Amino acid sequence: MEKRELIYEGKGKKMYATDDANLLIAEFKDDLTAFNAQKRGKEDGKGALNNKISTQLFKILKEKGIATHLVETLSDTEQLVKKCEIVPIEVVVRNIATGSLSKRLGLKEGMVLPFTLVEFYYKNDELNDPIVTDEHCLVMGLVKSEKDLETLRHIAREINSILFKFFEAKGLKLVDFKVEFGIDKDGNILLADEISPDSCRFWDAQTNEKLDKDRFRQGIGEVKVAYEEVLRRILS
Ligand code: ADP
Ligand code: UDP
Repeated sequence: MEKRELIYEGKGKKMYATDDANLLIAEFKDDLTAFNAQKRGKEDGKGALNNKISTQLFKILKEKGIATHLVETLSDTEQLVKKCEIVPIEVVVRNIATGSLSKRLGLKEGMVLPFTLVEFYYKNDELNDPIVTDEHCLVMGLVKSEKDLETLRHIAREINSILFKFFEAKGLKLVDFKVEFGIDKDGNILLADEISPDSCRFWDAQTNEKLDKDRFRQGIGEVKVAYEEVLRRILS
């Protein structure tokens, strides 16, 4: 597989073309950003940790029947993925109230939600990724039909029930997470992007210690130690 030109550099990854028009190389960066990139930092080795964590979680999901973009790991920081047209919706799944949900609705941080919430955010940095309703998604043409939104919701809930149980067995609470979906060349909806401590919240089941990017957002420190702990538990 030949790595060709850089086609996109985002906050957490660089995406490269390859000699196969249907495949991309995702390279995980050590950069950390929060609050729509107003806070920036770097943690050596973070990219490699996220690559390993995301690869492992995508493999578990694949075994349970979730279609994903992952083809194979290429190096510590690189993975080969199926090229997709990304649906510009960040699908957020929440089991416990925190972050923007607590801020927006005044829900007590740590409240166990009576049922799992699935929310859609319009993936647009200029607009600060605003929360959107189904009708907003349809008006903006972010998806073709209501059925597509139902499919995204359904897959996101499936991912949650698989990963929630998986992490529970590892002594971690899966508080909330964000996923992205893409459409491949054959029109299939695939889980794309990554699932890592950059895009999830994990709390230790015993102590509620935060083991995710909130350590960077809130300036708690020891970000890499926390990501290493998540990887250790995933592999345990
Ligand atoms: P951001 O764009 O939010 O800063 P990243 O730094 O993670 O995020 O950049 C990776 C970009 O690549 C994201 O915009 C993501 O939607 C996109 N992407 C992820 N997986 C694929 C894929 N399989 N095909 C095409 N684009 C993808
Ligand atoms: N999230 C993400 N990318 C974003 C926004 C949120 O990966 O651009 C993840 C975040 O890590 C958390 C979940 O989605 O696991 C819910 O985030 P929230 O809406 O509470 O946003 P925040 O408090 O980070 O602004």
